[in-house]
Amino acid sequence: MKITTLGILGGGQLGRMSALAAARLGIRVVIFTDEDNAPASQVACCTVKAAYTDREALHGFADMVDFITYEFENIPLETVDYLRTLKPVLPNNRLLDVAQERIAEKSFLNSIGIPTARWAKIENRNDLQSFLNAAQGQACIVKTTRFGYDGKGQARIGSETNLDETLRNFKGQVLIAEEIVDFACEISVIVARDQFGKTVTYGPMLNEHRNHILSRTLYPAPVSQDIKDKAIAITQRLADALKLVGVLTLEMFVTRSGDILANEIAPRTHNSGHWTIDACAASQFENHVRAVCGLPVADPAPHHGVEMLNLIGDDVEKAASYWTQPNACVHLYSKTDALPGRKMGHVTILKDTL
Ligand code: AMP
Repeated sequence: MKITTLGILGGGQLGRMSALAAARLGIRVVIFTDEDNAPASQVACCTVKAAYTDREALHGFADMVDFITYEFENIPLETVDYLRTLKPVLPNNRLLDVAQERIAEKSFLNSIGIPTARWAKIENRNDLQSFLNAAQGQACIVKTTRFGYDGKGQARIGSETNLDETLRNFKGQVLIAEEIVDFACEISVIVARDQFGKTVTYGPMLNEHRNHILSRTLYPAPVSQDIKDKAIAITQRLADALKLVGVLTLEMFVTRSGDILANEIAPRTHNSGHWTIDACAASQFENHVRAVCGLPVADPAPHHGVEMLNLIGDDVEKAASYWTQPNACVHLYSKTDALPGRKMGHVTILKDTL
């Protein structure tokens, strides 16, 4: 039997958990990363360590694998385009185009009928002032259009904010302004879609953040069936519109009036789906690996409700208290420095049987 080898660009915990899922399916994994001793490298067959722009190293990596995917969204498009000339790279570029740039993302979501908070492109003070005037006193947020995650590259704007100073802090970058949604809760849905066009979904999950970083996820989300159905339908529509092969995640706000507004697309597996390793027949990582290696996606068949707790920075010390807790599944990412804000591991606590 021919053994499949999957190449993963990126060496973080998402790559690590994908490599573990691949191993169970008999698929070998090669990691490409610019980091030493990356979390994913520790569980993969081998690693090519080089800069993402190093063509020779990328060529060598492509020679070693049958399929290529990525585990983080800020992978340079030139890297992906070059690799595409050598081996199949999935998901396709359309997904990266929309997920790497917030204006393209919001425009695309709106173009396929998925509502978002009101937003505008901000190139100067006049653009921002017009946006704020139209918001009629509602608080707003400005964000960089690229490379923002976990609340980085964002500033809230209230009535007292000095607009000139805020814009100066962003050093003339193009920004996106959004109205702040007074949400009842934040949810996410993860979708896996295979090359045959079949989709399976996880969620919705309820997500709570601390300092803009996901801290706790609950599945099933305590929201109405109507909201669940709508959130799943929206995410499936997005996956079909993008002709996704792989996994993507849609983060959404549920408003106090019961509407759903899309916030962000993650073009990959997601922290709010880590519980699927312990509480599903097929995890988000397994379905990602299946889809990008040309296999059919499997029914997730969740068998437990869960509470997933992230271990961020020093929280990793708390892992000890979970070793003996019934139904607690501890995952550590083997990172040595517990820096503030760094995701060190997570714990999935299995609740009711579904
Ligand atoms: P983002 O990087 O856009 O995913 O934002 C990170 C977090 O900031 C979100 O999960 C929300 O908690 C909050 N946030 C971002 N945009 C908005 C918004 N327009 N209204 C309310 N909260 C927001």
